[in-house]
Amino acid sequence: MTEYLPFVRPAIGETTRRGVCEVLESGWITSGPQVAAFEQELGTYLGGRPTLCFGHATGAMEEVLRALELEENDEVIVPAMTFAATLNVVWRVGARPVLVDVDPLTRNLTAEAVAKVVTERTRVIMPVHFAGLSVDLDSLYALARERGLRVVEDAAHAIGTRYRERRIGSFGDIVCFSFHANKNLTTIEGGAVCSDDKALMERLRLLRFHGQEKLDDGGYDILFPASKHNLSDVAARIGRDQLAVLDERNAQRLSLASRYFSELEGLRAEGRLQLPARGDAGHAWHMFTVRIPYQQLGTNRQAVRAKLHEHGIGTGVHYPSLSTLTVTRERNLGVGQSFEAAEAIGRETLTLPLFPEMQASDVERVARALAEVLHG
Ligand SMILES: *Cc1c(COP(=O)(O)O)cnc(C)c1O
Repeated sequence: MTEYLPFVRPAIGETTRRGVCEVLESGWITSGPQVAAFEQELGTYLGGRPTLCFGHATGAMEEVLRALELEENDEVIVPAMTFAATLNVVWRVGARPVLVDVDPLTRNLTAEAVAKVVTERTRVIMPVHFAGLSVDLDSLYALARERGLRVVEDAAHAIGTRYRERRIGSFGDIVCFSFHANKNLTTIEGGAVCSDDKALMERLRLLRFHGQEKLDDGGYDILFPASKHNLSDVAARIGRDQLAVLDERNAQRLSLASRYFSELEGLRAEGRLQLPARGDAGHAWHMFTVRIPYQQLGTNRQAVRAKLHEHGIGTGVHYPSLSTLTVTRERNLGVGQSFEAAEAIGRETLTLPLFPEMQASDVERVARALAEVLHG
């Protein structure tokens, strides 16, 4: 009996488990020396940039937008193909989201599409590096400079991704990472922001922890009513080990993804599935998502997933197009706009198993099962 293959499985090794026990026994388990060390190491990994850890990326992105002091009619451009958090945070701070369709192959927004929806009220662009494939940032930052816009990168999928040989986060305006259990680097739940904008980072420090400022006399003052988003030392201890092996694990992801490309070539040639954009060696391969024309094949996604499950293979759906969500429709967002690519991806996408501890033989197994199911 072969073991069930989930679509993702976090890898927490023995050293980390021991390290976590040491933190638990140290008596200091919330934000302290481990968070300070993790922020230092992460900053170094990102080319020496100031980095702040958060309890999750959703909170980090929300506080970043809050720190930018957006007003009610200020517009924030978000790709229609992303996890809902990218959109929700815009509403949470009272600004106005503007959706933009993505490229059908890369699933990323493009500067060209963004330029068409920029208005006098646009303040921020929030690109998402889908599945770990970098957005074309040169053209996007050129547009941002020209129009005086801030860029908040949702790099939840892109820790370790490189764009033209530079790591995502080592440059750019404001870059947010997620360390959720499914991400390439996990702290169970967690996130980080990095930016060279000193004033913004100082503001974020306050927004992260009650608006609290430490005083010279050992006491503290509260400057304004803020929320709480700090990472714990237990989580940071996990993150430090994960960071130490990140590049190695991302290389393993790249190699498994390459295997998928060769194993699935037959199905692609038969028109039974569409492979994702391949990118270059800088792709962090957070996910391997294919598109399947279910209707054309006389089936549906639910049935395909159920059959793969019977073969002992887990799959995911990343993501429904934001344009189809209730939260979007009830707020009349995107009315009169076309999200043809994002909606087609949303209907047809299927996330196949991909995590660093998988073997090439697991990829073969997925490809065999998929061939059987899609020929069925
Ligand atoms: C996971 C994810 C988030 C949210 O990250 P959390 O750390 O879970 O808050 C945001 N955006 C994208 C694209 C994600 O995949």
